[in-house]
Amino acid sequence: MSKKILALIVLGMFVMAIGLTGCGSQKSTTQAPKVIRVGSETAFAPFEFQDEKTKEYTGFDMDLIRALGKQMGYEVQIVSMGFDGLIPALEAGNIDVIASGMTITEERAKKVNFSKPYYKSGLTVVVKSDNNTIKGFKDLEGKNIAVQIGTTGANEAAKVKNAKVRAFNNPPEAFMELRAGGVDAVINDKPVNDYFIVQSGSKDAKVVGEPLTAEDYGLATSKKNAELGEKLNKALDELQKNGEYEKIYVKWFGVKPAK
Ligand code: GLN
Repeated sequence: MSKKILALIVLGMFVMAIGLTGCGSQKSTTQAPKVIRVGSETAFAPFEFQDEKTKEYTGFDMDLIRALGKQMGYEVQIVSMGFDGLIPALEAGNIDVIASGMTITEERAKKVNFSKPYYKSGLTVVVKSDNNTIKGFKDLEGKNIAVQIGTTGANEAAKVKNAKVRAFNNPPEAFMELRAGGVDAVINDKPVNDYFIVQSGSKDAKVVGEPLTAEDYGLATSKKNAELGEKLNKALDELQKNGEYEKIYVKWFGVKPAK
């Protein structure tokens, strides 16, 4: 055999080997579970909070996003961060989805893609149980109000005349300040306020007046990843049809979702 032919055979085998290796690695990437990184501010019970015993993130949003991930064939990884850091993290590509009781607003929709609404919420005012002067939003003028930073509650508090508004990292910190007498009221999401009041024995705080707003929660994805947004909406539809969404809703709220 001439040296030339031998060289060709060796080259041929080499090319084949590369081809096979290529196939092998391709196969393993399709088999490995795909991960979606889900950003959440995890002090927002009953939507997202840490289970005291297992330390796992639990709540309505956490169950829902895990069920959606399963439906889409993704493994869900929860990334806990401050609420005001969520949209920047999504824009920077550090997370793929926001599941954090986030209200769909026009302002936010300029920066992110929202899924279809998945929960009907709104804001209420919470005061100490023994407060008989604040009976609703209109009595907040000139008062000290606690809110969570970067939220719709913070936006609403900013509309109150002469009020001194203090922004906390999360609702539990705002409630703590209310208990300590540092503020007169907290403006925050209704289901979170109701849950806090029941969990703390319904003795320290109460909701006053009617809900200030009607808000819809949505899951947010990056504008650069329209495909993931579409997949999420499709999976949400499927879970609403097959009863899984209703099961999760009843688990956390004790009632069926309004049609
Ligand atoms: N729903 C409110 C908002 O979007 C609060 C959300 C939250 O604190 N997790 O601003």
